[in-house]
Amino acid sequence: MQNPAPAGILAAQASGSNGGISMDKVIVITGGSRGIGAATALLAAEQGYRICINYQADEQAAQQVLEHVRALGAQAIAVRADVSIEDEVISLFHRVDTELGRVTALVNNAGTVGQKSRVDEMSEFRILKTMKTNVLAPILCAKHALLRMSPRHGGQGGSIVNVSSVASRLGSPGEYVDYAASKGALDTFTIGLSKEVAGEGIRVNAVRPGYIYTDFHALSGDPDRVSKLESGIPMARGGRPDEVAEAIIWLLSDKASYATGTFVDLAGGR
Ligand code: NAP
Repeated sequence: MQNPAPAGILAAQASGSNGGISMDKVIVITGGSRGIGAATALLAAEQGYRICINYQADEQAAQQVLEHVRALGAQAIAVRADVSIEDEVISLFHRVDTELGRVTALVNNAGTVGQKSRVDEMSEFRILKTMKTNVLAPILCAKHALLRMSPRHGGQGGSIVNVSSVASRLGSPGEYVDYAASKGALDTFTIGLSKEVAGEGIRVNAVRPGYIYTDFHALSGDPDRVSKLESGIPMARGGRPDEVAEAIIWLLSDKASYATGTFVDLAGGR
């Protein structure tokens, strides 16, 4: 005889809430103020989510996205937090609990990259910042989401999407190998966590964008990087943030109800 499922899981399955989508939908998007995160917030608003737009520094950008999603009819808040610091992650989730309700969807999107350089030129500070933002932060955010999603903690399931990069399988030599390695770690975290919580009504997946038109590339020293590299992309163009957001929202939704530990590459054939 099989072991009986915990009561919380049975309740989640009975209500069809695996993936967190039949319940009230509450989404936390880290780095939701710009680029791929902002595009995800707009799509989430159209899908009826209550939305937490997290940002680190650019309050004006966060306010603009907030106004936009509210104009689409969504209940939403913008919360400043450096998601690589656990105390700030704790405060962020407390605000979500109080102002939006129990989180059902997490998009680990916030990320950073250093200036284009070889590994023998990289400072310890730069490598640590990359690892803290791209690896530590998503693990911390997943931890505090799981404390609300898992039936072990009174939750009813949910869905997590990590925003990785095709750099995790290409390695980015001569550009930012530290960044590529951080996304490789995020991929492994996606696989491990997906298996760890698969029996708890929680799905964990990742998207891996290629060159996408956002302000991100200014961080590596060349804001026009995507258009300069377009000729080397099989589809001969860079991607749009909304093209990545579509995959994120699909993976979060019940339409992807049997997908966990899955990677969707959005890289124009790279
Ligand atoms: P972006 O336009 O530079 O936006 C980055 C967002 O992350 C901003 O909202 C920023 O907030 C926030 N952020 C950065 N560090 C943070 C921290 N410690 N705590 C909280 N928020 C933080 O970047 P993007 O291009 O949309 O990239 C989003 C994700 O996609 C990243 O994980 C990136 O690695 C990945 N990706 C991007 C590309 C691409 O070509 N663009 C390709 C592959 C993967 P502030 O503005 O307030 O600082």
